[in-house]
Amino acid sequence: MRRPVIAGNWKMHKTIAEAVELAGALKQAAAGIDHADFIIAPVFTALATVAAELQGSNLKLSGQNCSDKSSGAFTGEVAPQMLLDAGCSHVILGHSERRQLFGESNDLINAKIRAALTAGLRVIFCIGETLAERETGRMYDVLSEQVTQGLAGLSEEQMDRVIVAYEPVWAIGTGKTATSDQAEEAHSFVRGLIAGQFNLQVSEQLRILYGGSVKPGNVDELMARDNIDGALVGGASLNADDFIRIMNFN
Ligand code: PGA
Repeated sequence: MRRPVIAGNWKMHKTIAEAVELAGALKQAAAGIDHADFIIAPVFTALATVAAELQGSNLKLSGQNCSDKSSGAFTGEVAPQMLLDAGCSHVILGHSERRQLFGESNDLINAKIRAALTAGLRVIFCIGETLAERETGRMYDVLSEQVTQGLAGLSEEQMDRVIVAYEPVWAIGTGKTATSDQAEEAHSFVRGLIAGQFNLQVSEQLRILYGGSVKPGNVDELMARDNIDGALVGGASLNADDFIRIMNFN
């Protein structure tokens, strides 16, 4: 019922030439697969060139962040409209690295999500608890705050252009994947939150991706679960063979 999504977050990796080479390989592979939406998120400097490489393919392009402002004296920032201009259809917002290393609050992430949706982008909205939050029993409160505040004020129509990515911080880049039981439990909790904040229909249509050390070896088990609608992949998205195997999940 929900079309799966496989997204690659390339983080701060790859030159323009390297990005084009990987995008080219993925484009070829994606042409033969129709069971999911595929999205890649290269660095800002490679977006326009990768967009040209992806012309005519079923691979979509995403930014990894954007401003909540549309233009002006904001040195170093990139507006949502500029991502569209560079060929993006999506933007990743609220990633734990943005929250932890760059101090992004739920309020700021909410402002960015609204700006991105208003500009016409689709949003991959990331949430997830730290290990300390999980171990001290605060996981559900944290997820609840992130969802409620992050998606505050959005309309049902706007929710149609939002994808949520549940990424437990302790599983990102650590090689430590949440078990499919842990992921399924969190996803089902998040879907319940969305039903309460919006309605049942919005919650049933929402695609919730799992992220955190997704690899060729664990993607099938994760994708088999009812509430896991796809994957947001970091490390394993930088290698064509690994990501193509993930795109071909069973
Ligand atoms: P990882 O990163 O797959 O390298 O754990 C996931 C992410 O940060 O989106």
